[in-house]
Amino acid sequence: MTIQPVRLFGDPILRARAAEVTEFDRELRQLVADLTDTMADDGGVGMAAPQIGVGLRVFVYDTGDAAGHLVNPTYTVVGEEEQVGPEGCLSIPGLRYDTRRALRVRASGFDMHGKPVEFAAEKLLARCVQHETDHLDGVLFIDRLDPASRKEAMRTIRESDWFVSGITVRDSRGAGQAGPFGRSR
Ligand SMILES: [Zn+2]
Repeated sequence: MTIQPVRLFGDPILRARAAEVTEFDRELRQLVADLTDTMADDGGVGMAAPQIGVGLRVFVYDTGDAAGHLVNPTYTVVGEEEQVGPEGCLSIPGLRYDTRRALRVRASGFDMHGKPVEFAAEKLLARCVQHETDHLDGVLFIDRLDPASRKEAMRTIRESDWFVSGITVRDSRGAGQAGPFGRSR
């Protein structure tokens, strides 16, 4: 088990575009293991590499029904149906907002050995794929909220103890109650 500290809102790595993975080596396998352990420890549904301070295009997921990882992920939206449901983020502890996402996507990328992977996702897994892929482009779920909710979210962040204290890294056993994509216990 290698549980890594989680980067919080305010850390510039969360706003940077992560780089494509070019080496499918032992380090990448270690990264996937670290992400998986850290996500599990936090009770998260997904976690992207920048959240543990690594600027590479990798995320892991575990919705309960499906678990895995994706390297250099991309997705395409399938159909026009949308879903609105609660979303949070391990990097923004304590926040949870209804967020609009595509209901179905088709995800593709590679596994840690460089083998191409493709799968269809809907509902929570589709939400997770969109949330985590956003992370790799420096986009956070609060960016997807309607302007009023986003304003409220920003105000809540600015008033949070961790933000006020300038903390941008926390032990994964630290404070936070974010729900899906955040802490569940
Ligand atoms: Zn997140």
